[in-house]
Amino acid sequence: MWDAIVVGGGLAGWTAGIRAAQRGKKVLIVTEGVGTLYYFSGIFDYGDLESLRHLPKHPYSLFDAEAIDRGKHFIQELCPEYIETNKSQHALTVLGTARQGDLMPRSMVLPNHQEQGSFVLLVPEGLKDFFPEIVVSNLVREFPGWQVNVKRVHAENFGEWQRMGKSASGIDYAAIWRSKEGQNLLAQEIEAIKREHQGAGSRSGKIAVVLPSLVSEYFDASRTKTYVQDYSLPVIEMSSFLPSPHGRYFAEYLKHQFTDLGGELMIGARAAALNGKPMSAKQPKSCQEIIVQSMGKVLHLKAKKFILATGGLLGGGIKVGIERKLIQEDVFDLPLYVPQEWSTSQFFASQPFAQIGVETDKCLRPLDTNQGRVIWDNVHVVGRMLAHWDPWTQRCGGGVSVTSGCAAAEII
Ligand SMILES: Cc1cc2nc3c(=O)[nH]c(=O)nc-3n(C[C@H](O)[C@H](O)[C@H](O)COP(=O)(O)OP(=O)(O)OC[C@H]3O[C@@H](n4cnc5c(N)ncnc54)[C@H](O)[C@@H]3O)c2cc1C
Repeated sequence: MWDAIVVGGGLAGWTAGIRAAQRGKKVLIVTEGVGTLYYFSGIFDYGDLESLRHLPKHPYSLFDAEAIDRGKHFIQELCPEYIETNKSQHALTVLGTARQGDLMPRSMVLPNHQEQGSFVLLVPEGLKDFFPEIVVSNLVREFPGWQVNVKRVHAENFGEWQRMGKSASGIDYAAIWRSKEGQNLLAQEIEAIKREHQGAGSRSGKIAVVLPSLVSEYFDASRTKTYVQDYSLPVIEMSSFLPSPHGRYFAEYLKHQFTDLGGELMIGARAAALNGKPMSAKQPKSCQEIIVQSMGKVLHLKAKKFILATGGLLGGGIKVGIERKLIQEDVFDLPLYVPQEWSTSQFFASQPFAQIGVETDKCLRPLDTNQGRVIWDNVHVVGRMLAHWDPWTQRCGGGVSVTSGCAAAEII
């Protein structure tokens, strides 16, 4: 029997699985898909912790400040290149605007706005959904003291694609930049930029090369490399856009971290129901097993504890029927908080449906929404499945998922 089965392999599920395995637990992650990690920009957003922790039902209100810090340390131990930023440190979005974040890789942090220098935007040829003109105009606005130049870079690997009229995604380019060949190409381009600037007797200040897509090696699944910025000029990575190379490599990295710790994994497996019994009429129920469909088979998987990390509406953990007549949590059929209004007509406002989810006690055990009673004693809910938060307007998606995933793993 497993100590814990985690259902769902998104950010919250991986966090819970890895942290539990680090604590010596025998853990299985059962997941149908890869979750919303493939949309991840590479930056962890925690939001305004002080105000969010004081919202009565926000998931942060379930944790003390130490629990939130433990989640941050967990990420930094896993990925030592991630630093905690202050309000004046920003990263560059794919549109060339500066964006705040709470944990980001060193290689994404922009230089100080007050300084002077030159940016050279390296534009990979044929990169899909990337608009250098917009990036340049935004960079010029954001950094008035900086010159901005553009240099196109041609990766021979995509020559045939371009002749066929096919474009390359950020993920395609990330694979090139992370190969020995791609690193050599970048090193040559950057060396040439350095020489040109020295030759032109450029204005005083720094030179930084800005590159869309992931270039660094901090998510190296084999962990044989450490991240070294051995180019002759500083390279600034822009945050990822879809499909996200950061998300993809991070998901792979998490998977390796988990299995290296002895964690077991079932991918393409859907938890469909559970078997459990009440300990007594008045006490919470205890779950003995979940029923999982995998490769045409139906499996009954037993564990002492279960962590539900199925991601709410977007992740597939909450199903919505026609005309929203039925809104259902898919595995345990847990009661859901559902606001009376589904949406508001103000597009950029917080949408009420974002708050849909499971209410829990401080141990993340699901509550009956009417009576406030714990329903399952050995089930813990994490990540986007929790009720009463909005990752979009509160900008705390990564923060809630990591904090709750870590906290659940420390409770079990
Ligand atoms: C487009 C987008 C961009 C984002 N960008 C950022 C960002 O830049 N920074 C940031 O901090 N946060 C970001 N977030 C938010 C953050 O990624 C989310 O908070 C977080 O991904 C939610 O993680 P989760 O693990 O709870 O759910 P999910 O990522 O949705 O994972 C749920 C998992 O459960 C699996 N699953 C569902 N049902 C079952 C079942 N019955 N059986 C088995 N498996 C099941 C799914 O296949 C999936 O793997 C972004 C979110 C989105 C959608």
